[in-house]
Amino acid sequence: MDYGMIGKIDKAKRYAEERDRIRIEALTCTFSGENNPHTVTLKNGEWQCDCDFFQSRGRCSHTMALEILMEGMLPEFVE
Ligand SMILES: [Zn+2]
Repeated sequence: MDYGMIGKIDKAKRYAEERDRIRIEALTCTFSGENNPHTVTLKNGEWQCDCDFFQSRGRCSHTMALEILMEGMLPEFVE
């Protein structure tokens, strides 16, 4: 591996520890729920999930799990 890439890998490891450098603006993922897979998206500061609970409550275990995973990297207006 070339010297330049080795330096970038070291930098990447350091960056990965500094979550406040990253702000997630949009996201789409498939979430394997206990019963079915669900599609969860984050767009324009709003979560969406296709599970039944989200439809009635506007928040669900899937979106909250992602909030925990991405703590410190979500835009401030996301709730
Ligand atoms: Zn959900």
